[in-house]
Amino acid sequence: MQNPNKIKTILVTGGAGFIGSNFIRYMLQTYPEYNIINLDNLSYAGNRDNLKDIEDNPGYKNRYKFEQGDICDSEIVDKLVRQCQAVINFAAESHVDRSILDPECFTKVNVLGTQKLLEAGREHNLLKFVHISTDEVYGSIEEGSFTENSQIAPNSPYAASKAAADLLAQVYYTTYKLPIVITRSSNNFGPYQYPEKVIPLFVTNALDNKSVPLYGDGMNVRDWLYVEDNSRGIDAVLHQGRLGQVYNIGGGHEIPNIELTKNILKYLGKSEDLIKPVADRPAHDRRYSLDCSKLKKELNWAPQRGFDEALQETITWYKNNRPWWEVIKNKKKEFEKYYQKQYTNR
Ligand code: NAD
Repeated sequence: MQNPNKIKTILVTGGAGFIGSNFIRYMLQTYPEYNIINLDNLSYAGNRDNLKDIEDNPGYKNRYKFEQGDICDSEIVDKLVRQCQAVINFAAESHVDRSILDPECFTKVNVLGTQKLLEAGREHNLLKFVHISTDEVYGSIEEGSFTENSQIAPNSPYAASKAAADLLAQVYYTTYKLPIVITRSSNNFGPYQYPEKVIPLFVTNALDNKSVPLYGDGMNVRDWLYVEDNSRGIDAVLHQGRLGQVYNIGGGHEIPNIELTKNILKYLGKSEDLIKPVADRPAHDRRYSLDCSKLKKELNWAPQRGFDEALQETITWYKNNRPWWEVIKNKKKEFEKYYQKQYTNR
């Protein structure tokens, strides 16, 4: 893809997290002419090791810069936005279970933090501001799939905070003509995902012969998207997405959690006896499903990776990168505290 928008430097927020770090690696490798500034406050989910290969590679020295800071801090946000032509806003509190335990933090970061970035965008001459939203803003659907015109009906404090940020971003386009484009993606999976999320949690627990805590009857359906396919979708939206528009990005592979769990255990050669049913999450969305025909028709995007192959590759990555997740699971007090509260006290 060419560089039609004369972008030189992109501000990526939340780039030390799962999707942001995969996106930064993808962009640096795909566009040798781009520079990236990564603004991340290194919350519990932020990890500079996610981009250690990039930071240690002299070839990226002049093209990649990490800035530790908070998107709620106008000063640093303003300083960095003025150096860039495009912003991609990944930074967020991202875990639904945590939002049920501490909703205020989600409103602060996801809503007010996004607004600080949008305000800075108004001050400076941006070519594109891509806001990363989620399919969870639509809520649950029993049959059919959500299009970009479906009603927003979130069911968790996380989803509500993302919905508020999504609407704010839309309003900054209609009111101030900020060059906004929004993506709403389904559940991502791949390397460097914080091991509280279902796939890395189950893989790493099973590798240690620990139980895997499955919510409710395990029949909640999720549509899985390989993280690199999401990066390609965001790339397409950044370069070709129409201003003021929302684009769904889904993997098109819907499976119930119980089936996903059995697949993981099968690939690892582990017994299904490791499955431990736990009390369901309150207001747990039953099914997510996205209609992605807009992105496919307008921007010629389609997922390139088959689910089974990508899942196996992801499982192998966690198998081969034990030191990466062991540090998080064994040494970070935060992880232990949360895990105990979530799965043993109900
Ligand atoms: P993540 O939790 O792995 O990463 C979030 C990153 O944001 C972390 O590096 C964290 O340190 C940083 N961050 C948090 N608060 C910050 C603040 N105040 N200032 C600066 N940085 C801050 O999340 P993820 O799974 O990579 O998700 C990234 C984005 O994609 C989020 O906006 C999320 O809502 C959205 N999303 C995720 C999924 C998914 O399946 N993971 C699906 C759809 C949408």
